[in-house]
Amino acid sequence: STILELKNIKYKYPNGPEALKGINFRIDKGEKIAIVGANGAGKSTLLLMLNGMLKPDSGDILFTGEIFRYDRKNLRELRRKVGFVFQNPDTQIIAPTVYQDVAFGPVNLGYSDDKVRSSVKEALSYVGMSGFERRPPHQLSGGEKKRVAMAGILAMNPDILVFDEPTSALDPAGSEDVMELLDEMHISGKTIIISTHDVELAYPWADRVVLMQGGRVLTEGTPDDVFHNK
Ligand code: ADP
Ligand code: ADP
Repeated sequence: STILELKNIKYKYPNGPEALKGINFRIDKGEKIAIVGANGAGKSTLLLMLNGMLKPDSGDILFTGEIFRYDRKNLRELRRKVGFVFQNPDTQIIAPTVYQDVAFGPVNLGYSDDKVRSSVKEALSYVGMSGFERRPPHQLSGGEKKRVAMAGILAMNPDILVFDEPTSALDPAGSEDVMELLDEMHISGKTIIISTHDVELAYPWADRVVLMQGGRVLTEGTPDDVFHNK
């Protein structure tokens, strides 16, 4: 069943280009989707629409079948359902310790102290970062920061996880670890959407590929459909 749907979404950055020129896009429950395209194609902009961080100039976003209205209550609900992991973990990591950083979301959601603690513990364990609770995030390696940023989102238990260039700036081993984590999340029932410029990464991983260029969707389908018709 369809969870999120974008209908003819257009968006121009203030003092910037028209980054999305009429995007139609749908996310079904349980999919693994890769948005593929060169730098500047509009991938990040599209992803930022999915949890309400950007609001389209025109077009509609349908969330569980209804046209999404941008009020505080709906945005809160959308952001609880759709977790967003930024390309650069420094954008996302804000607290002085790993624990506080991962706890930020659960605290914001109003979880009890016990539930905050158990959510943080579980999320850090999931990403292989147990024992780092007291560490200042800025002292961690790029791969460790990435995993802390992922834990911060997982701790809120969203249904849909959005990763902007999940492996950027990681070495091959770190990239493989992150992609394995995404697969584990998928197996546990999450819907996963990534952006990438890397066809080699998308091809073996995705159920569905959405190829973007110049703010438009060029084509979409299975990796075989999309990449063999290029
Ligand atoms: P991608 O993720 O595929 O690299 P983006 O969505 O980041 O593409 O960018 C699409 C276009 O919008 C590019 O031309 C980019 O330079 C521009 N852009 C992205 N973010 C901003 C911004 N904050 N302000 C102005 N222009 C932006
Ligand atoms: P990505 O490939 O994920 O789009 P970028 O390097 O293009 O990453 O962008 C990094 C950050 O800079 C993002 O927050 C994006 O919104 C912003 N950005 C990108 N292009 C521009 C631009 N032309 N003007 C202002 N901000 C931009």
